[in-house]
Amino acid sequence: MLQRVNDLIDRQLSDWGTARDNYAALGRVRLRGFELNERSEVVLQFNPERKRSSGARVDAASLAARKCFLCGENQPAEQEKIEWEGRYKIQVNPYPIFPSHLTISAIEHTPQEVGRRIDDMLDLARELSDFVLFYNGPRCGASAPDHMHFQAGNKGFMPLCDEVMDESLWTMEQRLLDSKEGFLGFTGQLGRNLFFIKASERVVASLLYARLQLAMLMASDNTAEEPMQNILCWYEDGNYCVVVFPRAKHRPDCYGEGEGQFLISPASVDMGGVWAVPVEKDYETITVEQVQAIYDELCLDNAGMARIIELLIQQK
Ligand SMILES: [Zn+2]
Repeated sequence: MLQRVNDLIDRQLSDWGTARDNYAALGRVRLRGFELNERSEVVLQFNPERKRSSGARVDAASLAARKCFLCGENQPAEQEKIEWEGRYKIQVNPYPIFPSHLTISAIEHTPQEVGRRIDDMLDLARELSDFVLFYNGPRCGASAPDHMHFQAGNKGFMPLCDEVMDESLWTMEQRLLDSKEGFLGFTGQLGRNLFFIKASERVVASLLYARLQLAMLMASDNTAEEPMQNILCWYEDGNYCVVVFPRAKHRPDCYGEGEGQFLISPASVDMGGVWAVPVEKDYETITVEQVQAIYDELCLDNAGMARIIELLIQQK
């Protein structure tokens, strides 16, 4: 599977003009790095092509009025796919943030909701072992909240995926559920509140995620929808690794194109430490304090984390 996907990327970058041009442009983007704190880095990427994503209108009326770009009948003839398990199609994302950037969407047009699909995400992460998979909740940065999809980008790109592997973060106090096969822990030490699952068995990773999901739902004011979240998931050294960022908010108050505003709509990749910034002024002027303030505004605060943690401890 991995070889077939890498071949697909090579083929699309040579045969499909849109993809070829946009990946070539990505090779020329400017980057600016920050130290968020002593443990964590953020990289800004000036990427004008991402305006269609950061600026995407995702309200119900706008969605109803547009043709879904993940449905096969609306995709360009050049855009190839590889089917996975007869339920998903793997494709090259023509508007990349990563040097290798995939979209993995459900074959059918069905709403964005992770639920039991976490198992698909874990299986895909293991098969696509050069990649980190990610999931944006329908109100947490997904530009097609009406069509279920994951994305994937090459490993080694988002700083957080390395930072979270630091064993010194995962003392007994930070581990909520722990067994020989894996643990679920939490930390705020990387500049944003997150949960982390590391498990050698897929069934254990899946169960820990299900328990976290239930606690997040029980702690939420809105139990009609899945908890607001971004997820990163990858497979490394025999372990399934899952980072869950519970979200408090979709877009920051400073969202916009006016004076003092930023056209920034953070999703999984931004949570992972790479901010694709489509407006040059924003790219040049945003400060590390403003980046931290946006994380603080969008991620669940300590009181919200404490409610979830309490519910998880009760499940022990
Ligand atoms: Zn669709």
